[in-house]
Amino acid sequence: MREFEYVRATEAGQAVATVTQDPRASYLAGGTTQLDLMKDGVLEPELLVDITRLPLRGVSRDGDTLRVGALTTMEELAADPTVAARLPFVREALLLGASVQLRNMATIGGNLLQRARCRYFRDPTVPACNKRRRGTGCAAVTGAARMHAILGADEHCIAVHASDLAVPLVALDASVRVMGADGERSVPLTDFYLIPGDTPDLENVLVHGELIVAVDVPLPRVGTRSAYVKVRDRASYEFALASAAVAMTLDGGVIREARVALGGVGTVPWRAREAEELLRGAPPGPSVFLAAAEATVRSPFTVPGTAFKVELAKRILVRTLSTVAGVTS
Ligand code: FAD
Ligand code: SF4
Repeated sequence: MREFEYVRATEAGQAVATVTQDPRASYLAGGTTQLDLMKDGVLEPELLVDITRLPLRGVSRDGDTLRVGALTTMEELAADPTVAARLPFVREALLLGASVQLRNMATIGGNLLQRARCRYFRDPTVPACNKRRRGTGCAAVTGAARMHAILGADEHCIAVHASDLAVPLVALDASVRVMGADGERSVPLTDFYLIPGDTPDLENVLVHGELIVAVDVPLPRVGTRSAYVKVRDRASYEFALASAAVAMTLDGGVIREARVALGGVGTVPWRAREAEELLRGAPPGPSVFLAAAEATVRSPFTVPGTAFKVELAKRILVRTLSTVAGVTS
């Protein structure tokens, strides 16, 4: 690992100013992504600004919005009573991720900003990776690609956005509060992540130096049912091959509102708006669930290693919809 300078920030504005004015500076939160990538030689910051002592930790409620401080850990958020009562699929997504040791270190801000798990991205001896260096090509398109994306992907990059938490948060229309040199702004999570296209190195709309200070999560109406289902190669401590987050309100035998997103198959956490349109006002059942799944996985980009995900994504969505609606598929 290359040598770097380390400072511990005591005030958010000071941290933002320090990173903003130095293009070789990065934030350090729990370190579970950042330090791995530094050890592997993928990231080589010259200055690390440790933000873990900033007062950005904890969960508070403002009416029907839950404000989650960026430094709240995954375990702390999963243990929050409002999350358990009103956002069960957020809790499930958190507890199905990583391991308890990692979740005690990993922060919510860092989770949303975790980097690609693509093996070629994480191996600097592989020259072809447009995400590491724009214009070099994509080794995964012709290589081993089981863990890669089929939605929002093309020949430039097929890396999945690996966060489980981001999947229900995208479905809920959560937004990220960001502090920059010019003050604070709020960005809907659905607009936060960027489809790679020919600039896979740009993963989100943050400007260098901007700090996530909180995530605002709108609480769904009382009585909303939800579930997060994750399929993976082993039963624990593994990223998703495919996952689905569904929140649904049923009224008088029809679906009043459905919020749907997929994980493990998209280059960004994948909001399934066409599925939501089809589901709204329909009686729950296998045929509408299948139609919603078909609409979501329309126009996939596949390579031999990821072709199986087309059927897997549809099946996991049908299964999650059926689970939430309480019908057998
Ligand atoms: P750091 O590593 O400190 O930072 C990550 C990135 O975000 C860095 O670039 C850092 O500069 C930046 N950053 C951090 N906080 C902020 C902020 N507030 N504002 C601006 N920039 C910031 N995740 C899942 O969702 N599901 C899994 O199944 C899963 N399994 C895992 C298994 C392993 C073995 C490991 C190592 C990780 C796994 N993860 C999984 C990822 C894990 O959840 C993330 O590594 C973690 O959430 C990152 O949080 P952190 O606080 O450690 O971030
Ligand atoms: Fe790099 Fe993306 Fe291709 Fe992986 S999928 S090698 S991250 S360009």
